[in-house]
Amino acid sequence: MNLSEQLASLHKQPNNRRSCLMGTILAKLPDTDRKALVEVLANRSISNARISATLKANELVVNETTIGKHRNQNCSCDVAQ
Ligand SMILES: [Zn+2]
Repeated sequence: MNLSEQLASLHKQPNNRRSCLMGTILAKLPDTDRKALVEVLANRSISNARISATLKANELVVNETTIGKHRNQNCSCDVAQ
């Protein structure tokens, strides 16, 4: 298969993009909680560890690394929250 054929075949592949765990949690939170979490994520003076601990205390288990990647838009979310 040459390059143009390979590129054309990409159109036929299913869209596998999905949110990272952080994005999934954001999506399922009620509006008020989601808004508060988005604001915390945007506040760089709050560490990933503190966010992780607070979420964990509310039975939302997401590790610091995942939070950091989401904050840096280095995750699988289509659009960073
Ligand atoms: Zn994400």
